Amino acid sequence: MTSVAVIGSGVIGASIAYHLAIRGAEVTLIDRATPAAAPSASWASAGGLRSQGRSPAEHAITRAAARRWRELPAELDADLGVVFGGHLHVAETEAESAVLQARIDADRCGGIDVERLDSASIASLVPGVSQAAIAGAWTPGDGQANPVLTAHGFARAAQRSGAICITGRQAVPDIADEKCVGVRMAGGEKRPADIVVMAAGAWSMDMIESLGLRVPLTWRGLQMVASHQAPPMLPATLTAVGRNFSLKQSPSGEMMVGGRWFARPCGPAPWVEAVSEQTILQWQSASAIFPALSGLTMGRVWAGAEAQSPDGHPFIGRCGPPGLYLAAGFSNHGFQISPVIGECVAEDILRGEHAWLEPFRPDRFAHGALSADVSTTSLHAR
Ligand SMILES: Cc1cc2nc3c(=O)[nH]c(=O)nc-3n(C[C@H](O)[C@H](O)[C@H](O)COP(=O)(O)OP(=O)(O)OC[C@H]3O[C@@H](n4cnc5c(N)ncnc54)[C@H](O)[C@@H]3O)c2cc1C
Repeated sequence: MTSVAVIGSGVIGASIAYHLAIRGAEVTLIDRATPAAAPSASWASAGGLRSQGRSPAEHAITRAAARRWRELPAELDADLGVVFGGHLHVAETEAESAVLQARIDADRCGGIDVERLDSASIASLVPGVSQAAIAGAWTPGDGQANPVLTAHGFARAAQRSGAICITGRQAVPDIADEKCVGVRMAGGEKRPADIVVMAAGAWSMDMIESLGLRVPLTWRGLQMVASHQAPPMLPATLTAVGRNFSLKQSPSGEMMVGGRWFARPCGPAPWVEAVSEQTILQWQSASAIFPALSGLTMGRVWAGAEAQSPDGHPFIGRCGPPGLYLAAGFSNHGFQISPVIGECVAEDILRGEHAWLEPFRPDRFAHGALSADVSTTSLHAR
C-alpha cells in the first residue's frame, strides 16, 4: 500500500488526502493549524464556483468540477454551503463587449455552457444589476460554496476512509540520501511516507527554497469586504470585464465583495492585513454594478494569502528528489477545481500519470518559457 503524507489541509491538500484515502492509500494529513485556518487562502476565499473565463488548460478540469460540486455534499456527507445561482460576467462598453465575446467564444470551444445576455435578459435573470451592464456572459450552472466547510468536509471524509489527520503541527519534507523519506514535524517526530505532497499554499515557498528547488512560486495577499446580513437580493455571483470586482451574497445574507484588491504583509509571512484606504474603493466599484450595495453597511473586512505562479496556473507534480510532490500556486481560482484536482493528483500519485495535469508540471519554466495565452486568461478572470 502506498503511504502518502500531505502537508497542508486547505481545500487542495484535504481534497488530495480524501481522494487518496478512498483509493486505499495510507494517508497522513498534517496542518500547522486547523483545516482552512487564517490566513490561508481557503480561509479567506470568496468561495465562487465559476467555470467561465478559465484558460483552455483548465477547461476539462473545470467542467468535471462543475459536475462534481452537484454530488459533493452527499458524497462527503457534509453541508458545504453549495448554492447554484449562476455566474454573470458583465461588460459596460462596446469595447468591453468585444472582450466579453472573445471570452464566450473561448469558453464555448472548451465545452463550457455559456450564454451571451443583452441588457434586457440581464435585468430579467439577475435583477438589481446596473443598467450600465450592456452585455453579459452567463453560466447558469455556476454558484458558490463555503471553502472552510469544504476543507473540513474533505478532511473528515478522509479520516472516515482511514486517513490520519494531525492538526496544530508544522511539518516539512524529510530528505535523506537525496530522497524524500517522509515528514519531520515540529517537536522532531518523523513520519515515514513513500510520497510527500507539499500543499501548503502561500507557505510552500519557504519549503521549496529550504530544499534548494527552483520553482517560480510567489505569494500575495487579497482582501475581501462584506456587508452586514441583508435580505436575499442576489442569487447569482457577479464579475465584470472592466472592473476589479467580484460580488456574491452568502447563504447567511452577507454581500461579499472581492476582486484583485491586494492586502499588505503584516507580521511573519504570509500574514496580511486589509488596506483600509482601498476598502471604500472596493465597495464603490462593486456598487457601480450592483447599486443596492450602496444602501448597505460594511460589516467586516479580511485578508488572506495565496501562492501565485507566473502564468496563473498551479504547479502540480513530482518535484525535486524522488518521493516529493508539489500542489501549490492556485493563483486565486483554485477553489472551484479543488474536488477534481484532488482526484487527478491521487491518480497521478497512485498510477503514475494524469493527462489533465500535464500543463501544470512544476518544471514547465525550467527553460524560461512563459506561456502567454494561459497567463492572460487565468489572471484576469474572476
Ligand atoms: C481572498 C481570496 C478569494 C478567493 N476567491 C476564490 C473564488 O471565488 N473562487 C475560487 O475558485 N478560488 C478563489 N480563491 C482561491 C482559492 O481559495 C485557493 O486557490 C485555494 O483555497 C487554495 O487552497 P490551498 O489548499 O492550495 O492553500 P491554503 O488554503 O492556503 O492552505 C494551505 C494550508 O497549509 C497549511 N500549512 C502551511 N505550512 C504548513 C506546514 N509547514 N505544516 C503543516 N501545514 C502547513 C496552512 O495552515 C493551510 O491550512 C480565492 C483566494 C483568496 C485569497
